[in-house]
Amino acid sequence: MALIVQKYGGTSVGSLERIASVAEKVSAARQAGHDLVVVVSAMSGETDRLIRLAKGIDPQPNPRELDVLISTGEQVTIALLSMALEKHGCPARSYTGAQVRILTDSAFNKARILEIDAQRMRKDLAEGRVVVVAGFQGVDEQGNITTLGRGGSDTTGVALAAALKADECQIYTDVDGVYTTDPRVVPEARRLDRITYEEMLEMASLGAKVLQIRSVEFASKYNVPLRVLSSFTEGAGTLITSEEEGMEQALISGIAFNRDEAKLTVLGVPDQPGVAYRILGPIADANIEVDMIVQNIAEDATTDFTFTVHRNDYEKALHILRATASELGAREVSGDSRIVKISLVGVGMRSHAGIASTMFQALAKEGINIRMISTSEIKISVVVDEKYLELGVRALHSAFGLDAGK
Ligand code: ADP
Ligand code: ASP
Ligand code: MG
Repeated sequence: MALIVQKYGGTSVGSLERIASVAEKVSAARQAGHDLVVVVSAMSGETDRLIRLAKGIDPQPNPRELDVLISTGEQVTIALLSMALEKHGCPARSYTGAQVRILTDSAFNKARILEIDAQRMRKDLAEGRVVVVAGFQGVDEQGNITTLGRGGSDTTGVALAAALKADECQIYTDVDGVYTTDPRVVPEARRLDRITYEEMLEMASLGAKVLQIRSVEFASKYNVPLRVLSSFTEGAGTLITSEEEGMEQALISGIAFNRDEAKLTVLGVPDQPGVAYRILGPIADANIEVDMIVQNIAEDATTDFTFTVHRNDYEKALHILRATASELGAREVSGDSRIVKISLVGVGMRSHAGIASTMFQALAKEGINIRMISTSEIKISVVVDEKYLELGVRALHSAFGLDAGK
């Protein structure tokens, strides 16, 4: 008998029929003798709908009130699932994040979990009930409702598993595991049986939306065995664990991409100490996160400076940059919000040379121009025009022998 935390995503609870089938799955696991804590997302599309409502009132809604609003989606599904379980003869009880007491900081819309009180859940489990918890939400010290950022129910699941020292955290979604790349973009993508926390962390942070990045951080920090599975088909899914001695290491474990990027360039900046600080300081002060940064070698005592930001921050960053550029006496500011980032990820890269050149060759063969490059020990990222996203991902998938059947 094990203690298992299961998380069901939006599509998995997208209709009453689907909620009924989740109830069946949960009851079956309980009949098999396991203790279960179940985390659910809002019904698919619901969080987007609520955000649209808020933006209909104010394009930049008050963050505290936005959290009050968007946390309601999960309150609906915990109640419906508990009713469905009860109807199945499976005793269950639902809790919001605040009721469990998932304590977070006060960063509305992107709060971090600080502490979880496991007592209440343990009492229910001891009394034979399934505990159903709303994903994506918590409460701060002052009692305000907070949310954990898009995709945050994954993090709720893993954090509960860590707090309860569960035997496994199972993330049920609409694909049957973690693939070499998004199977919606590359039909030849292959499911991975295992992937390390480190690789999954890179994949998630480089754009693979199958798991929220913070959920992987949590799993890695507390060593929570994490599994991604389909709520629609049977199968073992993908296990995410720590790197083990002797575990066969693929050169490349996957390809991630991010469509939410935009790039900005200041041309002809005087090449002096402090320039990077003067350009990026005001961007950071405006709470805009910078991703890649490239500065050219100076010619004629001036240089060009390029960086990328989230597409939502593009206009704001451009506005700030124009002001900075004129203060610095730079020649020109340019920008492009129709770019994407494609990344190769693999711990096997550490010990192999030549991966970058294979990557660049595959892109060149398709006539894809690389705008920016950035590398780390276990990843290589390139920025290319948005129109080349699918072509680029497919070309790399096949160049590195990742296509199914190879
Ligand atoms: P949920 O609503 O269950 O949380 P998400 O939409 O957040 O589901 O995540 C699942 C989706 O992630 C899949 O439908 C798939 O399109 C996408 N995805 C992106 N990259 C990958 C990958 N490498 N492996 C599997 N799925 C991926
Ligand atoms: N419902 C939230 C979202 O759509 C949280 C989640 O599904 O993980 O982002
Ligand atoms: Mg998700």
